[in-house]
Amino acid sequence: QAKNAGRNTIRFFNPEMQAAIDARATLETALRRAIEHEELRLYFQPQVDQDGRVIGAEALLRWLPPGSAPVSPARFIPLAEETGLIIPIGIWVLEHACEQLRAWQANPQTGDLVLSINVSARQFHQPDFVDLVRDTIAASRVDARGLKLELTESLVLDRVDQVIGRMQTLKALGLGFSLDDFGTGYSSLSYLKRLPLDQVKIDQSFVRDLAHDQNDAAIVKAVLAMSQSLGLDAVAEGVETEDQRAFLVKHGCQQFQGFLFGKPVPIEDFPAPERLQPAPGVVLEFPEFGRN
Ligand code: C2E
Ligand code: MG
Ligand code: MG
Ligand code: MG
Repeated sequence: QAKNAGRNTIRFFNPEMQAAIDARATLETALRRAIEHEELRLYFQPQVDQDGRVIGAEALLRWLPPGSAPVSPARFIPLAEETGLIIPIGIWVLEHACEQLRAWQANPQTGDLVLSINVSARQFHQPDFVDLVRDTIAASRVDARGLKLELTESLVLDRVDQVIGRMQTLKALGLGFSLDDFGTGYSSLSYLKRLPLDQVKIDQSFVRDLAHDQNDAAIVKAVLAMSQSLGLDAVAEGVETEDQRAFLVKHGCQQFQGFLFGKPVPIEDFPAPERLQPAPGVVLEFPEFGRN
């Protein structure tokens, strides 16, 4: 009997697959616990202008289980997206980002910094996403002009009319939009033109081999020329060397992010306000706290 059942049963899983499924389930349980036990933290990676002045930061999520090494978002964000855990995580990120932005805006020396946060497709497509952002901004009393949402190409190409509508509503609140990992997807120029973007973020895979790979160099030049003609800012990510920076500057890139300028760090280690000050002779208008 048992033999028969064994012979007639189609086996979907081999042992390795079963092990992978178990590992996933363990990770999922641990991630649920992490949210409850506040094991998540935002790290901040500086973004600089051509003079090396810090003009903002990207908020990057870290999972810090007590007593073990930090877990990379590359590992748990995909799982969080599949399981829906990205919804509570996304809310947590938005709230904590706004909290930090409020602290920056309370200090004239850091009042102009722009904080970028990553938004997952599943989060953006929630029916109440626009309300969530509006309510969080209102509750934390931040000037929304200090907030930028990073969307990926696959997100903006799916249900594009709905995406554009939401982006327009959110932009009316003052916040900005950046297209993350630009160049890795399939967005055409005609789509890009329709999207109310403020910035494209050149993916680090193109920046990495800039000096040695003719194709990457050509792509980066083309993206910079294109963003200029569409009136968008361009920020390069993954800038690690002075050579990469020089190439990017030469071809018109205005903003930079990468280990050359700073790794993602807890807020205590973020460059102090003195380091953010403009060079002597440059006069900045300091916004009053709560510009709205
Ligand atoms: P991303 O948004 O493209 O973030 C840039 C990634 O590049 C970060 O990895 C950052 O640490 C890394 N990076 C920055 N500069 C350099 C450099 O010079 N060299 C190298 N080798 N790497 C650099 P991280 O923090 O591991 O995040 C990975 C991805 O996880 C992010 O890619 C983003 O897609 C996702 N992610 C992170 N935080 C969040 C979040 O709060 N929400 C959502 N939905 N996704 C997030
Ligand atoms: Mg990003
Ligand atoms: Mg990116
Ligand atoms: Mg990425």
